[in-house]
Amino acid sequence: MSLILKTSGSRCNLNCVYCFEKFKEVSDKAISPELLRKSISLISNISSLTFHGGEPLIIGLKKFDDLLAVVADFYQKQIEYIRIQTNGTLLNNDWINLLFHKYSNLNIEIAISLDGYRELNSLRTDFRKKESFDAVINAFKLLDKNGIKAGLLSVISKYALGNEKKYIKFLSSISNMSFVKINPLFNIHNEELSSDSLTPTEYALFISKCMQLYIKTGLYKKVAIEPILSILQKLNNKKSLYCNYSFQKCFQHLCLYPNGDISPCDCLSIDSFKIFNINEINEENFNLKKILSDNINFGAGNELVKLITACDNCDIKDFCCSGCLSQRFYFRNNRKLLDDFCEAKHLLKNSFKKFKNDRL
Ligand code: SF4
Ligand code: SF4
Ligand code: SF4
Repeated sequence: MSLILKTSGSRCNLNCVYCFEKFKEVSDKAISPELLRKSISLISNISSLTFHGGEPLIIGLKKFDDLLAVVADFYQKQIEYIRIQTNGTLLNNDWINLLFHKYSNLNIEIAISLDGYRELNSLRTDFRKKESFDAVINAFKLLDKNGIKAGLLSVISKYALGNEKKYIKFLSSISNMSFVKINPLFNIHNEELSSDSLTPTEYALFISKCMQLYIKTGLYKKVAIEPILSILQKLNNKKSLYCNYSFQKCFQHLCLYPNGDISPCDCLSIDSFKIFNINEINEENFNLKKILSDNINFGAGNELVKLITACDNCDIKDFCCSGCLSQRFYFRNNRKLLDDFCEAKHLLKNSFKKFKNDRL
């Protein structure tokens, strides 16, 4: 079970054009140390705990220190890995000292959101519409100066299409990446994709071209890129650890909000998918397994089960593993998009397979 902390609710110092966090009506207060302690004690077996946001660093050094002090009590007993997902713009020497010196024993892994070179990153701006690119690059450099590697998370919009070569070249220029994850921008307004979004097939074509460049340029020797890694694993009959390509899905990633609400993966809205509230729990009778199975069988979670069941007769179910359930859930009232989602998965499988066969 992984635990995602909505550390600052949806509060953030940036105002990215595509951000869906700002539409969540959740408390903007920081998660309190007491709530965190109770949550970790109750959930108990946590493979990874991620400080997420909004922007987690926005709560400030003192409050973050207090939360890390709680986490330190459970590290390696009830928590395996500790991670931070940040936009990177607030990172400075004080943060480096806190995260990587004072708490060096926690082996914190950091990942930074960056959509690519300057133009591709232009949807990530602050409230005055000032771009964040330079601040994010400086964060990578500051980490590098301190000998720290960082993951890189890109959201790919339609502006990336046709620019795969430039994107891969840009990735190759960052020396201290520990991994890359390329997510699609699939924002839905009035049941249609937003004007900045790409279609599932466009995303599949982008990934397929990136994969070819990734292999040809030798970038694969330096860093793993999802979903390329998972697709190659599945084609080689290996298991993927990435939820999009495995059946370890949304209920394996619980989210904690500052008011104590718990939901599955935060790609799913808290309004529709809230499971329970930690503050309302009687600790003596707490049975997480039962709460989750009740939600999956009789509650909102059943909507997600239906999405998996809908794949029963699909010829590539073992490869696709039903994809990202939030994407399919938000496409549910648009038949064309749902069909395109599945066609894109076929395209990914076939294009990767062809590339592999052509090289043998
Ligand atoms: S950095 Fe993340 S939370 Fe902040 S506005 Fe951008 S997408 Fe939203
Ligand atoms: S909503 Fe998507 S990204 Fe989140 S856990 Fe489910 S499958 Fe994974
Ligand atoms: S391609 Fe479509 S039907 Fe097949 S497993 Fe994936 S999501 Fe399900």
